Amino acid sequence: MNAHDSEKVSGTLLEHGYTQVATPEDAGLVLYNTCSIRDKAEQKVFNRLQNFKRAGNGKIFGVLGCVAQQEGEKIFDRAPHVSLVCGSASYPRFGEMLVQLEAGARRVTGLSLDTEETFDTPFTRRDNPHRAYITIIEGCDKSCAYCVVPFTRGPERSRTSESVMAEARRLAGAGYSEIQLLGQNVNSYRDPSPAGWNFAALLERVAAVTGIRRVRYTTSHPRDFGKDIVEAMDRHQAICDHVHLPVQSGSTRVLRSMERQYTRDEYMRRIEWLKSAGRRYSLTTDIIVGFPGETEQDFEQTLDLLDQVQYDSLFSFKYSPRPNTAALQMSDVVPDEEKQRRLVTLQEKQRAIQIRRNAEMIGDIREVLVEGRHQSLGQWIGRTSDNRTLNFTHTAGDGDSLVGRYLPVRVTRSGPNSLVGESVTVV
Ligand code: SAM
Ligand code: SF4
Repeated sequence: MNAHDSEKVSGTLLEHGYTQVATPEDAGLVLYNTCSIRDKAEQKVFNRLQNFKRAGNGKIFGVLGCVAQQEGEKIFDRAPHVSLVCGSASYPRFGEMLVQLEAGARRVTGLSLDTEETFDTPFTRRDNPHRAYITIIEGCDKSCAYCVVPFTRGPERSRTSESVMAEARRLAGAGYSEIQLLGQNVNSYRDPSPAGWNFAALLERVAAVTGIRRVRYTTSHPRDFGKDIVEAMDRHQAICDHVHLPVQSGSTRVLRSMERQYTRDEYMRRIEWLKSAGRRYSLTTDIIVGFPGETEQDFEQTLDLLDQVQYDSLFSFKYSPRPNTAALQMSDVVPDEEKQRRLVTLQEKQRAIQIRRNAEMIGDIREVLVEGRHQSLGQWIGRTSDNRTLNFTHTAGDGDSLVGRYLPVRVTRSGPNSLVGESVTVV
């Protein structure tokens, strides 16, 4: 989401007559987009701002994103060379703020979270010529006890289905073949216009746009992930064979204290829907280890969940205390060495699962979207519908760029994180 926010902000700058330069040293205006989901993000931002300052004679600096929202005007005090502090909920006013900066204002802020607006702009400067992101919902109305997002991105606001569909059609017309729908919790999408589509309805309509061959979406929240989404996926081949469904913990007790609003059994019911669906979907998740009060037994339940679900991949994190969140007040903190031990144990277990699951793909023929080339390996980089990296060799017409094309590839080797293969000619 942050990467796409940056694309939208860059597009707005180009629209205002700015041009993009290769390095911050060459720039007259430096905007630093930030994330505060984990670790001591604020400290990193201030260190980086110090470095910018040294190289920054006469430049204008701005801080955007979650650290800007979280630290607010304090940033001006600690880094007086900064002239703009703006959270993501204020990006719809970004053009106005630029005008203020150009007029010489030196403490411009966009910090209100009291908004019903989303940042819809036709001026997005997209980094990838084949895959495009579309934000469908901003903010989050959940209150997971560990999470800073509701405090930094504000309340949920859905875009109208009309504006999402117009963007999807425009992108397809411009040659994009893959669309990724974005939101902190896409499943709670609710069209604010009278059409009133829910997420499953929107997903189906986007998948049916002529020229769109792949649709992905992220992120889902298990509580709002309804069976209608699986049914929509089954009906449309264009919706990719992949679901990212963050579980966070395999222990219902920990899930309750995280305020995740589902039990392990309720989560498993959704996994069963997906496993008994019309197609084989790859499943990935997010897990936090060492949440306050997580016992060894709780952690073992998470390991057991990995055995039960057999995820294709996962993102794992050590719990990191965040400002304003409910978990900050919880006792029974898990020491860092123990968090680290649990993280390594979890990752080793998952690695073994991935080695086994990826080896099962050897001999399969998969369609890939070609994303790039590894010159040194003499391989093209492909991505399968189920979100695996499948690097491959291609002999016919090797001089031509294949980037952006869809090709069938036979899997010949596998590793824990990717597959290797060779392109095949289908007769
Ligand atoms: N809205 C999404 C969700 O509910 O899964 C994404 C939230 S966040 C950007 C992505 C992941 O970061 C979360 O799923 C969670 O695993 C992790 N995360 C969030 N806050 C964290 C914290 N305080 N400590 C460690 N991991 C955290
Ligand atoms: Fe954070 Fe929970 Fe909202 Fe995801 S659903 S953004 S984890 S509060």
